Amino acid sequence: MRVYTESFSFKTRGPIDIIDITGNVQKIVTKSQIKNGIAHIFAPHATGIIVLTENEENLLDDIRRLLEDLVPEGGNYAHPSNAHAHLRSLLLPPDKTVPVVDGRLALGTWQSIMFIETDIYPRTRTVIVTVMGE
Ligand code: ZN
Repeated sequence: MRVYTESFSFKTRGPIDIIDITGNVQKIVTKSQIKNGIAHIFAPHATGIIVLTENEENLLDDIRRLLEDLVPEGGNYAHPSNAHAHLRSLLLPPDKTVPVVDGRLALGTWQSIMFIETDIYPRTRTVIVTVMGE
């Protein structure tokens, strides 16, 4: 089995920016030359989420609303300034694992890999992709 790891960085525009990273991840899978196995996609951040969902603007608004409803910004929190950002990030994990088949991410037709910024400021974010297989 081979293991290939590479990361990439990008800028977000603040709360709750949602960025499609499918192309970046597929590029790394292609570069790894691993044909069959799995890709693990991980954001090393305490206020960031990775989801698999349809990249459709109205749905992305619904996701924003869901996060705002579940963890409102003005709650009675102890952690200074960005507790709601951490709590939103706690609800959904900062990683996903996707099968790699014939050198391609085996995503469903309506699945894109999306990074969700939960922090209160624009940030530079990193995603680490580990491809494992043959
Ligand atoms: Zn904090």
